[in-house]
Amino acid sequence: MERTLSIIKPDAVAKGVIGKILDRFESNGLRIAATKKMQLSRADAEAFYAVHSERPFFRDLVDFMISGPVVVSVLEGENAVSKNRKLMGATNPKEAEAGTIRADFAQNIDANAVHGSDSLENAAVEIAFFFSTREIC
Ligand code: GDP
Repeated sequence: MERTLSIIKPDAVAKGVIGKILDRFESNGLRIAATKKMQLSRADAEAFYAVHSERPFFRDLVDFMISGPVVVSVLEGENAVSKNRKLMGATNPKEAEAGTIRADFAQNIDANAVHGSDSLENAAVEIAFFFSTREIC
């Protein structure tokens, strides 16, 4: 059993597809162990994406992530990290496989509908960033 962090990004929340995306997780064996809708502050987004702080797209990424509310969730299941990444599809929706969340709901590499932890190690850090242990059940 693994746990991973998912974020439904502002573009997908604004489109009204929160339920459709959560259904992809539940229909593919990922249990929702915690979930909440929230508005990230600039400081939140900068801290969450600190690993990208030197990248040219950092400012655009932070601006986008605070442009509206997001839905953060802890997903639990067998191979949850890689399973979620597979369901998400490639970072650039134009390269995402048909039937993936990004192929179906994302517009471009900035507004790409979802975030998912890329390793078990990062998942633990990202989950702790958003949730206390008693919120995860
Ligand atoms: P992910 O794990 O698939 O989300 O991709 P990364 O961790 O590499 O990047 C984090 C986020 O930064 C992505 O989801 C994109 O929203 C954004 N991003 C990554 N690469 C680029 C890029 O080359 N240009 C722009 N504009 N945004 C990018």
